[in-house]
This record gives sequence, structure tokens and C-alpha cells, in this order.
Amino acid sequence: MSKCCICKRILKNPISIELGIGPVCRAKENLQEEFDFMKVQAIKGFGDVHFSRNEDGEVVTNVPQRIFKHISFPNGGDMQWGYGGSGSSDFALNILSCYIGQTAAEIYYQEFKWDFIAGISEDSGVIKRDDVMHWLSEKGYKEEINP
Ligand SMILES: [Zn+2]
Repeated sequence: MSKCCICKRILKNPISIELGIGPVCRAKENLQEEFDFMKVQAIKGFGDVHFSRNEDGEVVTNVPQRIFKHISFPNGGDMQWGYGGSGSSDFALNILSCYIGQTAAEIYYQEFKWDFIAGISEDSGVIKRDDVMHWLSEKGYKEEINP
């Protein structure tokens, strides 16, 4: 007797039995995939994060502002650091998204913000990729290994 791998209902349709998943769960999975596809993806080989301010006080960073979640687009302001608010939240989310893509970043970015971004008191600095990846693995994140 075959059961759906997600909801454990008994499968009767031969195609469902072969796939190991029922039609309802299959549709949900496809929707999730489409939804994830719309989110910003990791940037392959993205290195250390550099951030500073120019003489006008504007933020300069190699992290592209691809997601506007806490800051409203387009005039809500720059990504920021050194406090716990919207600018730091979006900086954290955009940084993690460069490394692991938005879907996974959404899980970790608030904690990442408090551990890495909110406490920065300097006007410029570097956040090392290795430190971020190490932190992520300590939090339970596992990099997907492509077969
Ligand atoms: Zn199912």
C-alpha cells in the first residue's frame, strides 16, 4: 500500500503511486516552487560584505538592495546598520540573500541582524563570508549540495 509522502493519505492512482505523492500535495509543491522562483536567488561566489558611507553620509556597499521588505520601495531609504530597525533588517535580509537566496534568508535574517548588523558602531567595515557561513551552519543551515 502506497502513501503520499507528504500527507500520508493512501494513493490509488497509478501515477501518484509511482511518484509517491498525491495530486493535491503535488499541486502545493509546484506552487511553492513557483513562489520560491520569484524570490531573489543567491549570487554565486559572493564574497565578503563591504560597507561604508560617502562624504554625503550615503551608504556604499557591494550588497545589492534587491529586497525591500522593511524599507518601502523606492524612497524608503538605504540599508543601514548600527540599530535594530528597518534599515538594518533589510541590510541583513539582503546580505543573507546574496549567500543563500531569499527563501532561506527569510528564516535567519532577524537573528543575523542582531548578531551581526545592529551592534556595528563603526561607519565602515567588512563582514566576512566565512563568518556568515559559519554562523549559518551553527544555526542549523545546511548548504544544498547539488548532485
Ligand atoms: Zn498528499
